Amino acid sequence: MTSPFAASPFDEWLTADPEVARLLGEEAERQSTTLQLIASENFTSPAVLAASGSILTNKYAEGYPGRRYYGGNQIVDEVEDLARERLKALFGAEHANVQPHAGANANLAAYQALLEPGDTILAMRLDHGGHLTHGSPASITSKVWRFVSYGVSAASDDPDKPGEIIDFDQVSDVAKRERPKLIVAGSTAYARIIDPLPFREIADSVGARFMFDAAHPAGLIAGGAHPSPVGVADVVTFTTHKTLRGPRGGAILCSAELAKAVDSAVFPGLQGGPLEHVIAAKAVAFAEAALPSFRTYAAQVVANAAALGESLTTEGFRLVSGGTENHQVLLDLRTFDAELTGKVAQEVLDRAGITCNRNTIPDDPRSPFITSGLRLGSAAQTTAGMGTSEMRTIGTLIGRTLRGRDDDQAIAAIRAEVRDLCVGFPPYPTLAGT
Ligand SMILES: *Cc1c(COP(=O)(O)O)cnc(C)c1O
Repeated sequence: MTSPFAASPFDEWLTADPEVARLLGEEAERQSTTLQLIASENFTSPAVLAASGSILTNKYAEGYPGRRYYGGNQIVDEVEDLARERLKALFGAEHANVQPHAGANANLAAYQALLEPGDTILAMRLDHGGHLTHGSPASITSKVWRFVSYGVSAASDDPDKPGEIIDFDQVSDVAKRERPKLIVAGSTAYARIIDPLPFREIADSVGARFMFDAAHPAGLIAGGAHPSPVGVADVVTFTTHKTLRGPRGGAILCSAELAKAVDSAVFPGLQGGPLEHVIAAKAVAFAEAALPSFRTYAAQVVANAAALGESLTTEGFRLVSGGTENHQVLLDLRTFDAELTGKVAQEVLDRAGITCNRNTIPDDPRSPFITSGLRLGSAAQTTAGMGTSEMRTIGTLIGRTLRGRDDDQAIAAIRAEVRDLCVGFPPYPTLAGT
């Protein structure tokens, strides 16, 4: 194989299937020679790759440790217990469920644990950054529960009073009017810290439960860069593959009081057999996130997003909410070029080897498929070792790419620069040389 690094420690076993092996090699090449700026992605450690590619995939384990429906689960029980104990220790939680196959499943299970069908949920507006599982008409969530929403405040030019941040007056007003059974905090496109305390107060004032969907900031919380919602919210859901840097999956934390309701909502409520190979990989990631080096990582992720944001401001872009406090930079493209859509920007950047996604911005006049925004994230390239100076370079490259978007030669030259930059920061240096 010609890839600059192996796609997994087991690559050589894949020679039995040259077609899939070729595709993995090509994807390995893509991941190591283009910039990964999708805010929900990261590079796992080789140990996480090894566990998720392991023989645990062979085992059926419906149920929970000590209460399985099939035999032969003594070792798998230890694996899942290890994951649960490490996760509880990492966040100081009373109970952990590590079985959700994804963040969406974790949210569905949490709703099912806390609510009856038809109950009202107050969550963030989708076009202001809420997730599909926060009541999108396209999601099963909106067919089972009744969603009402809050959003961010209006945009502002005053640097001392940034706009486009969560409007707690609105959260409170809608909560008093609609009397939700559950209030959900959390977002997929929001560059600010989400403080759990005002949500808790509002939930208490209307007798609602409070769920914090930490899909994006889970790693920043674990690494001490963001305030923890654990112990504040009734239930905390998250993905393990975004800033937490584990395998693709979800998890739920809650109080001992809600443990049974949450566990039975995941299984048998929503899922069948758990993915114990992924749970082993989650255990590895939870141990990694407890290391002092992960605190350094989380702080660097935030510093890198800030540097990227500053550099893009210099290039003429407007940052939604005027800045960033997490791993995300949400760009309003209209100040840079009123004609440029998120869709076109994403496509041109892809050709230059800069991988990111278009995104709606609050009150976007364009459709979610076209958009006026771009969402960037610093988590993956920070894992690969990039710092603030590389982030500033990336900001300049993005500006040049979008200015020169009709010039194929200019784009090809930037693609070569991006490749050179990436080669200095291999995501899997220990797997190199295959
Ligand atoms: C990513 C995300 C999810 C869902 O995660 P999947 O693993 O893709 O199902 C849920 N909520 C929020 C806020 C997210 O950003």
